Order: sequence, then structure tokens, then C-alpha cells
Amino acid sequence: MEKQFISLLSRLVGINSINSTLSMGPGEGELAELILNYLRELNLAAEIQTIAPGRANVLAVLPGSSRERSILLNSHLDTVGVEGMIHPFTLRQEGDKLYGRGTYDMKGSVAIMLLLAEYFVKYPPPADILLTFVADEEDLSTGMEYLVNHWLKDITPRPSGAIFLEPTEEEIGVSHKGFNWYELEVFGKTAHGSRPEQGIDAILPLRSVLDELSRIQAELLIREPDPLLGHGSLHSSIIEGGTELSVIPGQSRLKWERRTLPGESQQNLDLELKRMVQAAENHPGDHEVRARELFVRLPHKVPDEARVLEHLQKASPQSQKVGLSFWADSALGAQAGIPSVLFGPIGHGAHAVDEWVSLKSLIRVYEVLKRLVESS
Ligand SMILES: [Zn+2]
Repeated sequence: MEKQFISLLSRLVGINSINSTLSMGPGEGELAELILNYLRELNLAAEIQTIAPGRANVLAVLPGSSRERSILLNSHLDTVGVEGMIHPFTLRQEGDKLYGRGTYDMKGSVAIMLLLAEYFVKYPPPADILLTFVADEEDLSTGMEYLVNHWLKDITPRPSGAIFLEPTEEEIGVSHKGFNWYELEVFGKTAHGSRPEQGIDAILPLRSVLDELSRIQAELLIREPDPLLGHGSLHSSIIEGGTELSVIPGQSRLKWERRTLPGESQQNLDLELKRMVQAAENHPGDHEVRARELFVRLPHKVPDEARVLEHLQKASPQSQKVGLSFWADSALGAQAGIPSVLFGPIGHGAHAVDEWVSLKSLIRVYEVLKRLVESS
């Protein structure tokens, strides 16, 4: 098993699949071709979904013996950039550690899925396995969105559960936060610095907005925390405004991010936005204010009674249920109506220069998922 993992993972790591919108990489196209061929050599009817030039998902249905049930496995094909890494695309082994970009997040998991496919082609499982490899998880999740809208929504039988093989240190990821991005703009009037009476300062009102942001931050910290995820949070992200030292600024902009908890009401979130807008409007002066929600990713929590959770706990009794700090495609799986959990290997350095995955852990995750599929 060790040799199989090393040889397969070195092929996967050897192909640069850096996300093209996030880090100007080539995208997932070439890696998708390798996976397509790998699955076709196993006599699976695999297909590629091209979602944009150079960007692709791969999917295949591995038929189970009953054909009445299905379970979904998912990995993403893209990685973050490789700045500061010396040989990012060459797999290097040091004891149990396999170094290289994507080993941990998450080509090691791609290897697990391919080796599981190889096993279950020989020994068909009770339920169908939906093998899904998606693009663009590291940026905007256009791959998973495309998969849901162009394939998953019509698939029968509906999957009873989904495992997203993100690196979870062999714990069971049952929840994660969502995030909302917002933008607020203030419009004033540009004037020469020597004629302040002719201008309307568009930067000063942001002071009131930032004060309101601090107040909301403090309020979030005294709310009841989620037992696994802690508190929701809010932070200012980007601030822009003004043009020159001797000019009264005619425009300014603040962008911020709100990290949301499962169960938070949309009404509360709308109210927070309203408070930020009102703070800007109430600031003295004749400026105008415009605000909008830029992007939303919902938080995720798998229902306690989900069968996939029960089966995963049985297959890996020593694993704890954990909340994860990062957002993942699992939220989109759940939004498509499929109870979704996260489970993947031990490692280190996701998005860092010293990324590695534990070889022994890859094998353990493979064994756990094998038991899970056999019991599904
Ligand atoms: Zn990932």
C-alpha cells in the first residue's frame, strides 16, 4: 500500500494544478486528464466537465451491487501557489512525511479516492460510489457549484451522504463557519485642500462605520458560542479612499468580512449591515452612502442523526467530532440536500511552504473510508 500511495501521489504532485484565478496557475485541466485516464483504465465511465478554459471537474459513478443507494466522495484538484517552495512539484519522502505542494491539501486525498476506486472495481460495494474531483475549491468553488447544478441535482439514487476528504487530522469535521463579504462606499465632493468649504470629505464618515464595526465585534463575543466553532466574527478587510495630499477626498470604500455560525439568522446579519450604513449616514456632512453584499458562503453543520455520520463514527471510533476553522465545498454539498461530513489525513502546511502529509495517515484514512463504503 505504501508503494502504491507514493507512486500515485508523486504523479499527482508532479502536475502543476495551481488555481488560475487565485494564484495565476494553469488550473486543473492537466490533472483532470490524468484522473480521467486513471478511472477509464479501471473501466469506469468517467467524464470531464470543462467549466472554463483549463478548468475541469472529473466525475464517475462506481456501480454498487444494489444500485439502490449511493454515497459521494469528493476532493478538489486545485492547489494554492508555490512561492518560496524549492521543488513544489517533486514528491519528497522523509520518514513518514511526504512533502510537496498539494500533498496535504489535498492530492493525498485524491490518491485515496483513486485507490479506493481501484479496490471497489474488483469488490463492488453495496452502494454506488459517486467519485467527484472538482476545480476551484481554493478560490470561488465554481467547480463544486458546476457539479451540483449540472450533474448532482439530477443524480439518482440520491446520495445518502457525502465525505469531503479535506485534511482533518483524521477527526470528523461536522461543521464549519460561513462567510459574507460586504462593501460600503461613501461619496463626497472633491475640492482643493485650501478650499475645504467647497468639498465634502468622504473619508471621515468611515470613522463612525469603524466604530460601529468594533461595537458589533464586541457584541459577537458576548453571544452564546457554538460548542465546536466558538463565536462568529467580523473584521475590516480593505479600506480605500482619497487621491492626493492636497485634495479633499471625494470617495472612500470599506470592505469587510463576517464569519457566520450555523443557525445565525439572516435577519441579524441584515441588521448589522444596516447599522454600518446608518453609522455612515449619521456622520455629520452631506455625503452619500451606498452599501452591498458582495458574496455569501453559508455555514455548514451536518445533522446529528445523519447516517453518514453514524457510519463514519463506526468506521473510525477513535475520531472526535470537530468544527473546522475553514470554509469548504461541504457547505455546497449540504445545500444540495446531501448530509456532508469532512474526513481526511494528518499533515501540515496547507497553503504554506513546508506542506507534507503523513503516509501512514493516508493509509488509515483509506482503510476507514473502505469500511465506511462497505457499510453504506
Ligand atoms: Zn482543501
